[in-house]
Amino acid sequence: MNMKIRLHDLNFVPMIAEDDVRRRTSEMGKELFNRLGDKNPLFIVILNGAFMFAADLVRAYDAPCEMTFVRLSSYSGTSSSGTVTTSMGLDTNISGRHLVIVEDIVDTGRTLHAFLQTIAGHQPASVTLVSFLRKPEAQVFPIQVDMTGFDIENKFVAGYGLDYNQLGRNLPGVWVLESQLP
Ligand code: 5GP
Repeated sequence: MNMKIRLHDLNFVPMIAEDDVRRRTSEMGKELFNRLGDKNPLFIVILNGAFMFAADLVRAYDAPCEMTFVRLSSYSGTSSSGTVTTSMGLDTNISGRHLVIVEDIVDTGRTLHAFLQTIAGHQPASVTLVSFLRKPEAQVFPIQVDMTGFDIENKFVAGYGLDYNQLGRNLPGVWVLESQLP
């Protein structure tokens, strides 16, 4: 990994190496298989950021499953905008289904909290919340994440699906904003 990368006007330094990402996402996929292996779960992937995580997760899920995608966003630049916008909604019947909600990162928890409210009335058989990253210090909304890849400090990160103004999503590891480090 290079020691520094520039996205637009900002410098980022390595936080989680590609190998560690791979190991952890594969573990998580297997753990989900252990929990839901015979249930044909429906993975609901929250776009855009979770696309790469979701791909690795289902690759390690060695049983029948289905996938659908919703597009929600609350971030602009390096901070949360405070409102959750849906630009692509749920197009699959979720009633009676075992759902696995796949999120890239839980920051304040606003996005997942809002999404859980939209599915609450549809009576799924079960809901498992999975997030690649979580910033425990930043969480404000009362949601319970069932499985997390890594807990990180309350700093802005990019890579592995996460962007800084659309750049950085293709990076295979996670990078943190240099100016937020001590
Ligand atoms: P929350 O709604 O939990 O506050 O924020 C969740 C969403 O904000 C994530 O799905 C992600 O799109 C975005 N987000 C939160 N923290 C970061 C971060 O450090 N980097 C990037 N690129 N996006 C973030």
